[in-house]
Amino acid sequence: MSQQVRVRFAPSPTGPLHIGGVRTALYNYLFARKMGGKMLLRIEDTDQNRFVPGAEEYILESLRWVGIEIDEGQGIGGPHAPYRQSERKDIYRVEAERLVAEGKAYYAFDTADELDAMRKRLEAANAPAAQYNAITRMQMKNSLTLKPEDVKARIDAGDPYVIRLKTPRKEEVRLNDLIRGWVNVHSSAIDDKVLLKSDGLPTYHLANVVDDHIMGITHVIRGEEWLPSAPLHVLLYRYLGWESTMPQFAHLPLLLKPEGNGKLSKRDADLGGFPIFPLQWTDPFSGTVARGFREDGYLPEAVVNFLALLGWNPGTEQELFTMAELISSFDIAQIHKAGARFDIEKAKWFNHQYIRQRPNEELAPAVQQQAEANGLTCSADKAIKIAGLLKERVNFAHELFTEARTIFYTPEVYDETIAAAKWNADAVRAVTVFRDALQSFDGEFMADTIKHTLSDTLQQAGIKQGKIMQAMRLALTGSGTGPDLMLTMEIIGKDEVIKRLEQALETLKTPAS
Ligand code: GLU
Repeated sequence: MSQQVRVRFAPSPTGPLHIGGVRTALYNYLFARKMGGKMLLRIEDTDQNRFVPGAEEYILESLRWVGIEIDEGQGIGGPHAPYRQSERKDIYRVEAERLVAEGKAYYAFDTADELDAMRKRLEAANAPAAQYNAITRMQMKNSLTLKPEDVKARIDAGDPYVIRLKTPRKEEVRLNDLIRGWVNVHSSAIDDKVLLKSDGLPTYHLANVVDDHIMGITHVIRGEEWLPSAPLHVLLYRYLGWESTMPQFAHLPLLLKPEGNGKLSKRDADLGGFPIFPLQWTDPFSGTVARGFREDGYLPEAVVNFLALLGWNPGTEQELFTMAELISSFDIAQIHKAGARFDIEKAKWFNHQYIRQRPNEELAPAVQQQAEANGLTCSADKAIKIAGLLKERVNFAHELFTEARTIFYTPEVYDETIAAAKWNADAVRAVTVFRDALQSFDGEFMADTIKHTLSDTLQQAGIKQGKIMQAMRLALTGSGTGPDLMLTMEIIGKDEVIKRLEQALETLKTPAS
């Protein structure tokens, strides 16, 4: 029997989760569900200098908002708890010390100044890479160059030290990325990375590998920015003796600027006036507020659909996917290698698709809130009708009110071009007879009764309906275009309709012929 798939999303709480991070979480989730596996959430907070209060809560809330369910991990619990790396310190130290004992890592005591001096020396000598490695380590202060008793004395005296990986000098490191294929790196390109820092906490590399192993992770699906670190991780699996159960890697394509060149940045979002964070975020230090997809009016299912297709597609024409459909179609083999252009217009298009599918009752509160904010009252019934009338025409629920301005407000101006073209003698007559008919109308003022009244009236007056409809709309709304006019009248209400027809007759100049 094959092993159960276990994947993890492993964000660092260094600020608001970037939308690219949400995509990473989503791909992990889709794969886990597709394979009947488990999705873990691990918080990688070993870099204490970059810790930002509130970021972890933000991550959890973002995942909840888009509908990514975690099976095991931070906020949920599970057999490998705790899932916050800062609470797992001792685990990493044991492994780092084991590597030292086995001759695969070493203690290094170099101060910041000494490291700096080394870098300068190497740069001055035009060394290809000024780094701590198989060659330079022998000129530095570490347990490979110092006598064992000196090393012990320093540690006993509490001298600060780090543990560094003893990278082999000449070895090929290979990994078969599920998206990119074989990646080969020569070990000389990997430096003697710090595994355990002087504050006793592990670096990302050590903690990540140790936890993925302990937590039984089968597939590491993460952003392309981690591809350069992957060979180092492979080396660590080898040194730790875990190569046979090493997870498979899949490095996701970058999210590119809207123009398609270079990596998407916060600056692009600010310039373009669009969000790149799932939720609004207030920076706890500066108080700066960054906009979020949620607060900007995007529906979570639209964001999910948009993100799913940013770097993957199932090879069909289908564009609209529910989460369940995404799960059943998802396949790592269909993830693209090339970066994915972040096109906010596409996100709006998806939102439009989901807004129009939303029940009117769910969109109505947005109309009521905006009406209220504009000093108007709007009954739930009216708001529901407005949502039904206009949802095809908007990308966001908050745009419904703007679209409905002609319903809420009596026209103050009339489109001059339409007036010049359509406000003729027939139009005046049509508006007049229709107004008269409405004055004696005592049925239920509904779109279809209005429609019958209008066509009967016009027929009796011998006026062709097609010729005067734009003028009728102009009289009622001030504009030549808009949604279904009968429904619009129903929502406006009989008295207001009559009032508007009268105002139009008074305001619009009576044409000569
Ligand atoms: N903590 C890393 C991050 O914030 C995780 C990278 C990985 O998934 O290995 O992106």
